Amino acid sequence: MEYSLDSKQVAEATYEWLEKRGVRIEDIAELVMFLQRDYVPGLTPEECKRNVEKVLEKREVQNAILTGIQLDILAEKGEMFAPLLDLVKHDEGLYGVDEVLALSIVNIYGSIGFTNYGYVDKLKPGILRKLNDKNDGQIHTFLDDIVGAIAAAASSRIAHLHQDSK
Ligand code: MG
Repeated sequence: MEYSLDSKQVAEATYEWLEKRGVRIEDIAELVMFLQRDYVPGLTPEECKRNVEKVLEKREVQNAILTGIQLDILAEKGEMFAPLLDLVKHDEGLYGVDEVLALSIVNIYGSIGFTNYGYVDKLKPGILRKLNDKNDGQIHTFLDDIVGAIAAAASSRIAHLHQDSK
């Protein structure tokens, strides 16, 4: 029989671990605002937050977040084999698996998300700058891409909704 875990447990763990790793829902909502403010007149922080929460409801998103954070923590503790440890620790340019995992989130809401994802990944505004700071002893090789992806997915969601209402 296929094993299936209580969904509530997975959702709660997702929120808990994001918080433990220094990411608030408001931080992700700020990225959404940054991405969408020029395209959606009258967009409010509350609407951004609500759309982030909608993205976070999805089980495949929760799975990606938990997996990415776990890998970051294993790298932080040095509990990965070589040379994977160094690849993750130094966020090596050719590694790319962090981006692949993040793209599984962007994918859910279609192709508009890709442009947004690439844009925040390049500019690294707000929380992304903090996560990318290599001097605080924490490793966020996976989480930074995942947070950018959640913001991109929430932005696509908003874009679709506003298109539909026109
Ligand atoms: Mg990365």
